[in-house]
Amino acid sequence: MDADDFKELHWLLDVIQSSNIGIVVLNRTLEVEVFNRFMQAHSGISSERAMGHAITELFPDLPEQWLWRRMQTVFELGIPVYTTWEERPYLFRFPLHLPIHYDVDMMYQNVMFVPLRASNDKVERVGIVVHDVTESALARQALEATRAELLQVSRTDRLTNLWSRGYWEERFREEWQRAQRTGEKVTLVMFDIDHFKLVNDTYGHPTGDEGIRLVSRMLRENSRDIDICGRYGGEEFVAILLDTDTAGAEIFCERLRTAVEAQSVLGPNQQMVKFTISLGISELHGNIESANSWLERADKALYRAKTGGRNQTQIFDV
Ligand code: GH3
Ligand code: MG
Ligand code: MG
Repeated sequence: MDADDFKELHWLLDVIQSSNIGIVVLNRTLEVEVFNRFMQAHSGISSERAMGHAITELFPDLPEQWLWRRMQTVFELGIPVYTTWEERPYLFRFPLHLPIHYDVDMMYQNVMFVPLRASNDKVERVGIVVHDVTESALARQALEATRAELLQVSRTDRLTNLWSRGYWEERFREEWQRAQRTGEKVTLVMFDIDHFKLVNDTYGHPTGDEGIRLVSRMLRENSRDIDICGRYGGEEFVAILLDTDTAGAEIFCERLRTAVEAQSVLGPNQQMVKFTISLGISELHGNIESANSWLERADKALYRAKTGGRNQTQIFDV
C-alpha cells in the first residue's frame, strides 16, 4: 500500500471506526490489510493479529467458495456487490448475547464488497463492509411469524381445527376453476349431524360441542390429506374430495357415516351420547354451470338424505 493510499484510508477509517459498521480490506490473496474496531470487538481478534493473514485462516468457517466468487466479481468487474441477510444470514459468525427468548445467537449481516482502486486505477483491494442488521431482521421475522399465525387463525375454525367457512369457500372456488381447466374428477360432499337440536336440548351445549368435535375428528381420520375439509356452519361440514368420483365418494361417505355411528361422547351424567350424520354427494361434471350450483346439488342430496330417514348417504341425480 503506498503512502497516499494509506493516508486516505486512515482518514476514512477515523470516520467509520466509531460507527457500528465492520470494515475489512483484503488484497488479491485475501490477506487482511484493514480490520476495524467493530471487527475486532465482535471476533475477539486484534488488528495486529489479523494483519497479513488470510481472512479464511482467521475465520475457518467462512463460506470460502462463495466468498471467493464474490471477490472475483469485484476484482474483475470493478463494481460493488451486495448481499442481504435474507440471502445469507451472516458472513462472519459473530455470536450475540441476547436474552434467551430472542431465539437467535448470531448477528444478522448485510454485507457489501467494494472495489478499492489503487492510484493506477486498478482494483487491487476489496473492502468488505458489514452492517449489523440483527434488530431489523428480528423485527421482520417476528412480523412475518405473526402474519402467518394470524392467517392460519383466520383460516381455521376454533372448535374443530377444520378450515373455516370463508377460507374453505375460497378453496372451493379455486378447485372449481381448476377442475374446469383440467377436467379432473372431483366430488363434493356435504353433511350434517342428525337431530342435533335435540342433543343440545337434552344434554346441553357443551355435549353438543363434543359431538361436533367428534365428527370433525372422524372426518379428519377418514379423509386424505389432500381433501379439503371445512366446517360450513354449526354442525354442517363439507369435504372436497380430489381425484374422486361418485363411487369413490360413496365409499368415503359410508366409511365416515359408520365411523361416527360407532362412536359416542360422554354426557353431563356420564351417559353415552351417540350421533349420526346424513350426507349428500355431488360429483362435478360438464353441465354444472357454476360453483354455487355444484354446492346446491350437494345440499339437495343432503336434504334427500334427511327426508329419506337420516343416517344415510344420497347422491345427487343429474
Ligand atoms: P336435522 O337432523 O334435520 O339436521 O336436525 P337438527 O336438529 O340437527 O337441525 P339443524 O341442523 O337445523 O340444527 C342445527 C342446530 O345446531 C342449531 C343450533 O342450535 C345448533 N348449533 C349450531 N352451532 C353449534 C355449536 O357450535 N355448538 C352447539 N352445541 N350447537 C350448535
Ligand atoms: Mg343437523
Ligand atoms: Mg344443520
